[in-house]
Amino acid sequence: MPNNSPASVPMPEQAPLERVENFSEVSLGYSAEAAIEEAMRCLNCKNPPCVTGCPVNIRIPQFISHIASGRFEEAYREITDTNSLPAVCGRVCPQEIQCSGKCVRGAKGEPVAIGRLERYAADWHAENSRSAALPDKETKKNGHRVAVIGSGPAGLTCAGDLARLGYDVTVFEALHKAGGVLVYGIPEFRLPKEIVAREIRGLEARGVNVVTNTVIGRTMSIDELFEEGYEAVFIGSGAGLPLFLGIPGENLLGVYSANEYLSRINLMKAYMCEYDTPIKRHRRVAVVGGGNVAIDASRCARRLGAEEVYIVYRRSMEELPARAEEVHHAIEEGIVFKLLTNPIRIVGDANNAVTGIECVEMALGEPDAGGRRRPIEKAGSNFVLSVDAVIDAIGTASNHLLQQTTDGLEANAKGCLVTDSTGATTRDGVFAGGDAVTGSATVILAMGAGKNAAKNIDQYIKSRQAPMKNT
Ligand SMILES: Cc1cc2nc3c(=O)[nH]c(=O)nc-3n(C[C@H](O)[C@H](O)[C@H](O)COP(=O)(O)OP(=O)(O)OC[C@H]3O[C@@H](n4cnc5c(N)ncnc54)[C@H](O)[C@@H]3O)c2cc1C
Ligand code: SF4
Repeated sequence: MPNNSPASVPMPEQAPLERVENFSEVSLGYSAEAAIEEAMRCLNCKNPPCVTGCPVNIRIPQFISHIASGRFEEAYREITDTNSLPAVCGRVCPQEIQCSGKCVRGAKGEPVAIGRLERYAADWHAENSRSAALPDKETKKNGHRVAVIGSGPAGLTCAGDLARLGYDVTVFEALHKAGGVLVYGIPEFRLPKEIVAREIRGLEARGVNVVTNTVIGRTMSIDELFEEGYEAVFIGSGAGLPLFLGIPGENLLGVYSANEYLSRINLMKAYMCEYDTPIKRHRRVAVVGGGNVAIDASRCARRLGAEEVYIVYRRSMEELPARAEEVHHAIEEGIVFKLLTNPIRIVGDANNAVTGIECVEMALGEPDAGGRRRPIEKAGSNFVLSVDAVIDAIGTASNHLLQQTTDGLEANAKGCLVTDSTGATTRDGVFAGGDAVTGSATVILAMGAGKNAAKNIDQYIKSRQAPMKNT
């Protein structure tokens, strides 16, 4: 019997007052019964709009119908045909503007909780399938070598797809741990690091070689990779360079970039007493920005003991780009949203320590070129918010290191690498994808770019091997 309830089956969560005391995952996942009940809300549409909302076009009704029938492993296989990181995507994709945002059930109630079902299938597979950490099947090596720079979702997906095609792939990662933003940025309470580690173990089991602590462009150059026998290179180096507000007081003690703050906490485990990573526990914290990064930083500050945490964002809740679920969780955890508010100065004391942030109120004017209403300052509305830390989370850009050290590799005015639709850059044999090309975007878009590049790297290498006709 289909389930005609207008509401989706709720997912159990840690209670807000309990979870702000720990870094364990907030959402606890469906039981088998709950997953089946939610899957039975799907109408199995003939022309499913949810699929067009998914950047990698997962066959959503098919995998949901497997779950509805209790065929969880089949559901997992159906998803992983097009998405190699379902446990990650089920947790962090902005489903409300992608698949679920297009679901027909959303017209008269809540859409089908596609992300929760995707997560369920992936977690079930990890817990129950003996093959979870084993190679899918023995792949015959084809004798060709490809280097991947960066181990975020773009690099990992590209490496996995090439390994499946028989390539000998080495992933070079600058940090001491592989995973990109999935390990250094997104906190444990949203994405347990064991899930990323499991994906990386799966790649290694498929023969992918992961080399950490290696900065391409410093430790060795892209030219040297070619000299070492790699026939193509994929750049998935992300956009990890923090942007700053450029307002007075930004050099005071207690001002952080969200990247630094989150890296200390997530990558270097500053919240765990058995680690030596230093981190100051502030009482009143302002986080400037309205994206996932800002919400993550605010919720980390709360978990480190801050009594008051503010999100300072210059537009309204309607324009706030963070995932809806994270905003909901942040509000439950007591984060205060200072909307239509723009910082103009950070205030300090005689010891150069932050004591406040001066802001002005904003109103929304006409839409800008991107379609979002332009914030306009309200004259004379200045006020000072008393805080002892300010975290800048207003965006990131790409590091220029690879352009600077590689002849013929072009970037646009924003520093993003220039590619064509195949992912090929302006340098022969070098492909790129993910945030390094688009600027800061999403996990699923980075994965899609890695997948597209893997397919085209395969064609590129094969075309170089093909015998020339009529010669
Ligand atoms: C805090 C935070 C929260 C986010 N939350 C979400 C979310 O909820 N949902 C969502 O969809 N997206 C989210 N995003 C965005 C998403 O994580 C990124 O769009 C995605 O990770 C980009 O993937 P990538 O592979 O292109 O780059 P990255 O994940 O940035 O990985 C790039 C890797 O390359 C390495 N590297 C860089 N230069 C070199 C070099 N020269 N040599 C070797 N290695 C190098 C870096 O160390 C890094 O490990 C979030 C981002 C942040 C920062
Ligand atoms: S649009 Fe919604 S109801 Fe229709 S197939 Fe997709 S998930 Fe199911």
